Amino acid sequence: MSESDRKPEKEPFPLTCDTPRRHVGRMLDRPTKPPLTIRLCQPRGFCAGVDRAIQIVVLALKKYGAPVYVRHEIVHNRYVVEGLQNLGAVFIEELSEIPPEHHASPVVFSAHGVPKSVPADAQARNLFYLDATCPLVSKVHKQAMRHQRLGRHVVLIGHAGHPEVIGTMGQLPEGAVTLVESEEDVRRFEPADPAALGFVTQTTLSVEDCAGIIRALQEKFPLIHAAAAESICYATTNRQEAVKETASGADLFLVVGAPNSSNSMRLVEVAERAGARMSLLVQRASDIPWDRIGEIGTLGLSAGASAPEIIVDEIINSFRERFDVTVDLAITATETENFPVMRALRDVELTRADMAFVNG
Ligand code: SF4
Repeated sequence: MSESDRKPEKEPFPLTCDTPRRHVGRMLDRPTKPPLTIRLCQPRGFCAGVDRAIQIVVLALKKYGAPVYVRHEIVHNRYVVEGLQNLGAVFIEELSEIPPEHHASPVVFSAHGVPKSVPADAQARNLFYLDATCPLVSKVHKQAMRHQRLGRHVVLIGHAGHPEVIGTMGQLPEGAVTLVESEEDVRRFEPADPAALGFVTQTTLSVEDCAGIIRALQEKFPLIHAAAAESICYATTNRQEAVKETASGADLFLVVGAPNSSNSMRLVEVAERAGARMSLLVQRASDIPWDRIGEIGTLGLSAGASAPEIIVDEIINSFRERFDVTVDLAITATETENFPVMRALRDVELTRADMAFVNG
């Protein structure tokens, strides 16, 4: 093809003799985006307990049809809750909210666990319930009950008001458990028999803070019994470890999660302590405070155990719109945990499409 056959290169916009030169120069410049490296933590996001709880609601909807009632947010994430509402789940705080005409519909208890009074109440009301309590939370319940069976007063390390703490305390009679939230609480705690104590912890605490409280307990009460197994769960530990590894030197660290998600809030703290210049919690890309971020070259990114991967993708894409993004996957552990749903739902097929609203 001769030079004259070649099609003239298309002007990016029509130039006229009226076009001011300064505009021409600016318009011909290719817009360049500043470079940004995203250190993406792995593991991040859904743990086996959250995955199972969501699957239980989805499968119950497939098997029994809408409505399926869910007591409390199934997991602490608005996006997940709204996704399940769209499928026909109805979220309630108390069983008394279920209208009599729907007493045959299933009601699901959330992954955080419930006090013993809740299934008892469901039975009294003749309700059909499916308990989506994470097996690792149930394990803590059993450990608390074991302490009590062996004549020990139970010390629960956790956050007051968190549903998991309410559920664990509710496994034992009133007065059998004392909640401590800090080393200061340990200093104030004067048990009737310091030689008959056992402790358990909430599953989603900061590993470091919790270690400090346990140390304080053991110093003050040398005979206190630990739980038979670690109460902080694998998912909490792994996500915190991944954040610790990647946060140092990051200009900004974002954790995808909800403000009422304990494990997500702990990740924000861990990132700050590990050396991120700024560490923030965001629920969606629309929460990113672009005006506060300023110039950044390295972004750390993780997601709490109840935050869906689809939101992580949304966040990365919104950075791509403004930056020339390179994603570095920071793998610190491989998770293979998988908690099967209860037998009543195992005959229902769970397809990829069923979970696409959270997994993309
Ligand atoms: S964070 Fe841990 S305890 Fe909580 S649901 Fe996930 S695996 Fe279970």
